[in-house]
Amino acid sequence: MATPVASSPSASSSPITPVLPTYARADISFERGEGAWLITPTGERYLDFGAGVAVNALGHAHPKLIAALTEQAHKVWHVSNLYEVEGQKALAQKLIDLTFADTVFFANSGAEALEASIKMARKYHAASGHPERFELITFEGAFHGRTLATIAAGGQQKYLDGFGPATPGFVQVALNDIAAVKAALTDATAGFLIEPVQGEGGIREASKEFIRQLRALADEHGLLLIFDEVQSGVGRTGHLYAYQDLGIEPDILATAKGLGGGFPVGACLATAEAAKGMTPGTHGSTFGGNPLAMAVGKAVLDEVSQPSFLENVRRVSGRLSQGLTMIADEYPGVIESVRGRGLMLGLKCIVPNTDIQKALMGKGLLTVAAGDNVVRLLPPLIITEDEAADAVSRIEAVCADIAAQLADKKEA
Ligand code: PLP
Repeated sequence: MATPVASSPSASSSPITPVLPTYARADISFERGEGAWLITPTGERYLDFGAGVAVNALGHAHPKLIAALTEQAHKVWHVSNLYEVEGQKALAQKLIDLTFADTVFFANSGAEALEASIKMARKYHAASGHPERFELITFEGAFHGRTLATIAAGGQQKYLDGFGPATPGFVQVALNDIAAVKAALTDATAGFLIEPVQGEGGIREASKEFIRQLRALADEHGLLLIFDEVQSGVGRTGHLYAYQDLGIEPDILATAKGLGGGFPVGACLATAEAAKGMTPGTHGSTFGGNPLAMAVGKAVLDEVSQPSFLENVRRVSGRLSQGLTMIADEYPGVIESVRGRGLMLGLKCIVPNTDIQKALMGKGLLTVAAGDNVVRLLPPLIITEDEAADAVSRIEAVCADIAAQLADKKEA
């Protein structure tokens, strides 16, 4: 029999904010955006090097995205997946033409794209006569979302605490440690789930060699290689998808964030073989593949997939990394090193990363804190070299201030 409790949850009268307080928000809001800039209701301009956590790939208020969204809004907003949706076919075909994939499932977020990927991997083995193969090997520092399965996949205790037993089916090993991966293989292993560059974990890169070894291991044992490119995808690393610089291909890939440029959309890309178990009725979503999302996603990809666009990401990235490396060299007591690829860069800090992030905000530069004491720089992919130089000088000013404060403290 259940132990009686003093009061039921409904009897509680503790005050709570109208919006459930699950976020530690900064005390600032923005009324509008223009390109790489966000503007407050009182007209203060902030250079946006967070881009909604790697979402606003084309910046704010991009004319082509506004046109795509409004054009579709005048036609039809939603019809459900009971019918054919032409926009889904167009965006799926575009993704197929540009990647390893043969087929695409549309969702509304990164975590949902991951859920589809995880389910697909399990179903693949079930359809191959091995339902016992349901476990994915994931990597320390990972972040795959906030649903029950994706917090289990990410394996971070702070996200698991208090939510009951972790969803089974995930084992975690150290990143870039192929011996640990081999030791973790069992008859239950279904495959590997990895971010080519960890975002929330602190812009930590899986080495090219490690990813090639995972591919080889997957081929040898009939396992699936799943990439989580929710943050690293859609041009962020200077390639449409980070895997395209590695010389190997995954079986399944989750993408979201930049794909909608600010409109919620996610997708699970897969080979025909990996997707073979996903027959009618096996998975679904009311909003997934919504016509508005499809129209915007197609407009984003039309821009980002142009070679000149990606070339520009790499060029601006080069200038930005160069400036940041000089700052790290000049202020070794503040910044330890610069990490990352393309416009997915991280400052590994010596002083607390949140101090630097707050100070940068005070200087009009928005950034995002990450694990491993890193400040992430995730600007819109359309930033100019001048905007990159502007960010570098703001970062330098903050580092100079902090270095001076540290010197004062030492003297005192
Ligand atoms: N995977 C990665 C690598 C991410 O960075 C994120 C979000 O930050 C997710 C998955 C989850 O995406 P969402 O917040 O859209 O569910």
